Amino acid sequence: MKYIDEYRNSETASYLVGEIRKNANTLSAQKMSINIMEVCGSHTMAISRYGIRELLPQNINLISGPGCPVCVTDAGYIDTAIALARQGAIIATFGDMINVPGSDRMTLAKSRSEGCIIEVCYSPLSAIDLAEANLDKEVVFLAIGFETTIAPIISMIDSVSEKNIKNISLLTAFKLVPPALETLTSDPELKIDAFLCPAHVSAIIGAKAYETFVKKHNIPCVIASFEPVEILLGINSILKQIINGSIKVENDYERVVTYEGNTKAQELFNKYLEDDDASWRGIGVIDASGLKLKKEFSQFDASEKFKIKIKAGAPDKGCRCGDVLKGKIRPFECPLYSKACNPLNPIGPCMVSSEGTCSAYYKYSRT
Ligand code: SF4
Repeated sequence: MKYIDEYRNSETASYLVGEIRKNANTLSAQKMSINIMEVCGSHTMAISRYGIRELLPQNINLISGPGCPVCVTDAGYIDTAIALARQGAIIATFGDMINVPGSDRMTLAKSRSEGCIIEVCYSPLSAIDLAEANLDKEVVFLAIGFETTIAPIISMIDSVSEKNIKNISLLTAFKLVPPALETLTSDPELKIDAFLCPAHVSAIIGAKAYETFVKKHNIPCVIASFEPVEILLGINSILKQIINGSIKVENDYERVVTYEGNTKAQELFNKYLEDDDASWRGIGVIDASGLKLKKEFSQFDASEKFKIKIKAGAPDKGCRCGDVLKGKIRPFECPLYSKACNPLNPIGPCMVSSEGTCSAYYKYSRT
């Protein structure tokens, strides 16, 4: 396939749905019901948009996972960003973060109405322009995201060093996908039989990054793109692996993802970053599931520069984003869903983000 409409072709999709149904029947005959977690928020969005969940047989369940970077960012991180803004720092951020609630439903957008300076950046490099244009102020870039966004953010440091800019730093809350798979798999309340692995993250870390996990847990990990035909292909690959008992890492997105991944990005990670025990909203601290700046780059680390520590926040008590992110409930099982909580008045991050599960269900699902 070469053009985008081929990845959305209804005849190919129908054929694959037929194959999935045949394989699901084989599993059903063995009284098997399969839970597949789509880890990535972009998969959740595409699955909802194309109605893929509704096309699947009853014994094949798609569970949405914690792969939306905004959604898993702890409320305490937002509180810290707001505290820095109130101290006079310019906060530079990707747009999705603006309405994510911290403690007491406070957001960066609300702090902006108090007079704080919050600037939306479409690229980390525009934060550098901001720093150069405001030499009398400190610029703090909200450095959140999974492996995909870490590389472009970290590459800022090369430019900042080269230009000898002193008034910019990063407030880091980087997250890594493979350690999260470990935590989700070991949760006794969840029964995950397979993972549909993220496309863009896998382009950075490569198919090899899942090998240790698959060997240890004997759970299929299939990498798929965000196009409907390839998502269906990925689901069918998972079912075939389970039926044949040939559990492995399978790359159904070979046109972009390689076995080794993006080695240039990995070199950047190794140069600037080291492991960190990251706090995930609703999940808690996962050992070595994040990355932070190495000590020798502490001049770019906002936590060091401003001597602040990100403390645990207090998200809204009624919001069940934690359970949604772990795949324990579907959004409509949250009592606030589509009533008190909706895209115009989001109470939790899963309703804010364009990749959030609650947002995807609200936008596309009629359940
Ligand atoms: Fe949180 Fe709203 Fe989702 Fe409920 S519907 S879990 S309140 S984001």
